Amino acid sequence: MRKPIIAGNWKMHKTVEEAIVLANAIKRDVFDIEDVEIVLCPPFTSLGDVKDVILETNISLGAQNMHWEAEGAKTGEISSKMLKQIGCKYVIIGHSERRAYFGETNQTVNNKVGAALKEGLFPIMCVGEKLEERESGKAFDIISGHIEGGLVNIGPEEILNLVIAYEPVWAIGTGKNATPDQAQEVHKFIRGLLAKKYGKDTSEKIRIQYGGSVKPSNIESLIGEKDIDGALVGGASLKSESFVELVKKSSQVVK
Ligand code: PEP
Repeated sequence: MRKPIIAGNWKMHKTVEEAIVLANAIKRDVFDIEDVEIVLCPPFTSLGDVKDVILETNISLGAQNMHWEAEGAKTGEISSKMLKQIGCKYVIIGHSERRAYFGETNQTVNNKVGAALKEGLFPIMCVGEKLEERESGKAFDIISGHIEGGLVNIGPEEILNLVIAYEPVWAIGTGKNATPDQAQEVHKFIRGLLAKKYGKDTSEKIRIQYGGSVKPSNIESLIGEKDIDGALVGGASLKSESFVELVKKSSQVVK
């Protein structure tokens, strides 16, 4: 049985002070949830302070990006070693905003996934098609390119520490989520790709989150689908009320 994972991607939101307030509010209201894994991904500047808030709780810390080298002359970058040391368990890799605005490719995603796993971090690898790719019937080709390109040289033991986030770009921040049927179709397809690469048993253990306009009103129908194992949440993770509701509703679906 795969434990659902609800991760909040705060993107470039929240000062340190605001991040501490939000993390405290979430912590207060989800302390008794055990059947859903809860992850907060604040900006780099708040990682240390949010870590202090969630220390020894049921909430894990995640970062939103990293470089694949351990250290060096890479101005403005952060390494897996730094993330691990500050207390991160997870790191989001290859978010569509990074692919669109910061030149990330399947190759850089693969470099980062490999480096994160080597450091003992759990990558949340994002994949997903743009609207024009869906409309021209290329969605499945794009997604298999993201999966195959991102997982080059990632072995069957390591893969169990990886989470995949299917995030159709047309659903991110638009208020227009993929329907549960649309999302399930892609999640099943991704699990099929993983089964070909790693075997059926392993593929059944890998968690695949959905992301794209997830909110309290649609979470239950999405994670009620067989291959949808939680959500990567942007907008609705920025307020404790909506994020807590997402976590609690997910927990009810699990039960
Ligand atoms: C995201 O950016 O990962 C995301 C899913 O955003 P939103 O929930 O706001 O669509």
